[in-house]
Amino acid sequence: MLAKDCEKKIILTGDRPTGKLHLGHYVGSLMRRVELQNSGKFDEINILVADDQALTDNWDNPKKIRDNIIEVALDYLSVGIDPDKSFICIQSAIPALHALTFYYMNMVTTQRLSRNPTVKSEMALRGFNGSSTENDNEAGLPAGFFTYPVSQTADITAFKATNVPVGEDQLPMLEQAKEIVRKFNNTYNCDVLVEPDIMLPENATQRRLPGLDGKAKMSKSLGNCIYLSDDPKTVKNKIMSMYTDPTHINISDPGHVDGNMVFTYLDAFLKDDSQFAEYLPEYKNLDEMKEHYLKGGLGDVKCKKFLLKIMEETLEPIRAERAKWVQDIGSVFDILKAGTDHAVKVTNETLNECRAAMRINYFDDKPSIVADWEAWEKESHQAQ
Ligand code: ATP
Ligand code: MG
Repeated sequence: MLAKDCEKKIILTGDRPTGKLHLGHYVGSLMRRVELQNSGKFDEINILVADDQALTDNWDNPKKIRDNIIEVALDYLSVGIDPDKSFICIQSAIPALHALTFYYMNMVTTQRLSRNPTVKSEMALRGFNGSSTENDNEAGLPAGFFTYPVSQTADITAFKATNVPVGEDQLPMLEQAKEIVRKFNNTYNCDVLVEPDIMLPENATQRRLPGLDGKAKMSKSLGNCIYLSDDPKTVKNKIMSMYTDPTHINISDPGHVDGNMVFTYLDAFLKDDSQFAEYLPEYKNLDEMKEHYLKGGLGDVKCKKFLLKIMEETLEPIRAERAKWVQDIGSVFDILKAGTDHAVKVTNETLNECRAAMRINYFDDKPSIVADWEAWEKESHQAQ
């Protein structure tokens, strides 16, 4: 069944509780989630704190995951996720996701999994070399990490999600999910599972925001982030020391804007030209500012100060909202519990449908199991 054929429009998205959420999450996914939530166009929005997935490369440090569950929930609430409109749930407390992962493991080959480009680059990042560890210095590849795209398929399909708003690194995961959906539905001749559509940010820079060092994507695991919960002084320090253009030594030197993080972040965070009128009136828009930098005569400090103003327009309201929620962590916990209870209910329904399609729903199917057995018994007697 294709997403467009479904009656309900359902969103599933989530994050690994491996640390506080950062600006990459904000532009890649959180901002969009809030827009979609408030658009009123979706029947259901589920946001999953993917703690099981986080354990696949943090199995030796479950405390880190435990500690970050509330942090991630606080980040959601701070950016405008509204518990009256969206459910927030915890992956490990939803048993149907584990069962579905187990069935989907048979719908994919190890060869197919090893071609996933995001998993490949994440393996390299974590030093999971994929071979067994004769050399103690080289980490082998945990089966749980290798197969996490399968568990992610379980997350998406268990909610019958039609739309998944995520960053660009998730494209291969969505492709994998679609393949598993097709294989499952074909194998068991059913239309239980729904093919999800990815929703990427329209702005190319927002799809994969690079880190402050300009080297890779901003990522909790790389420590190159501005966190949504950073205080103003920290944000200022991070922006003032961010990577710009090493060839732009004197203000009068011509500079580069491509690969220069100040301009990359301006591309991602500027809302409209009125922000120039307010904070940097000598330019009408970003094109004019870039032109000046390229030509020479515009200093990095001035650009960074402008970026700081723009950044704070985004971060200040988030901080203010967070300050309210931290007064009442008990309520944050209750929101997680309510979202998880809802998730258990809807995912159990999908699991039951899958088991029925596979005809392994034994205890719901006593009459036909008894009848099948009796028919088979009769046939074998006749054959004797
Ligand atoms: P980890 O390092 O633990 O993998 P992460 O920083 O990559 O953490 P995830 O929890 O893996 O964050 O990602 C959650 C969501 O945020 C995904 O939808 C992902 O596409 C999006 N996302 C993460 N980092 C970025 C980024 N730098 N730019 C755009 N989107 C991002
Ligand atoms: Mg990640």
